Amino acid sequence: MAEQTQDDDRAAVSDAASMPCPSCGARVGGRSGCQALFEGLVAKAWESPTRASVHNLLVDAYAMQHSEEYGRSAKSYAAHLVGLCCGVEASEERGLYWAIARWLDGPARLTRPSDIPGRGGTTIADVREPADEADYPDLVRKWARDVWAAYTSQHATARKWLAEVRTEMLRSGSKGHRR
Ligand SMILES: [Zn+2]
Repeated sequence: MAEQTQDDDRAAVSDAASMPCPSCGARVGGRSGCQALFEGLVAKAWESPTRASVHNLLVDAYAMQHSEEYGRSAKSYAAHLVGLCCGVEASEERGLYWAIARWLDGPARLTRPSDIPGRGGTTIADVREPADEADYPDLVRKWARDVWAAYTSQHATARKWLAEVRTEMLRSGSKGHRR
């Protein structure tokens, strides 16, 4: 009888650990297990240039898989959607990513898009333990591309916003030169 209870407890513990996150579907111990994983990766972001190089992309991918929390306001939703768009489609454009915040604080006029149901099959569970540390950036990039692909219905909006960020960056840049 006691043994039976112990077995039940063990089963309950492993069930809890494999419970899917309600937002992204990762089987990492529900929403709280998923959050703990994210916070762990954020804490490790500045341990190495390898990890730091994809930190913004990791945050934006995670945020868009948990948009009801990280994108509550139109402004925060847009910040992460445009950030993801920039990270996947325009990562070579110097300074563009950092101009997003200035655009948001300045001329941005936003309506928050709706949360989408399926947010990509790749999750934080797929990047948490790279077989080789050097693989980490590629894993995060693959994850981000997958999340971005899930947002096809909002690509036009995101690209329009990113174009506004670019315009604003060039405008304030040229103003700066004239001074
Ligand atoms: Zn999650």
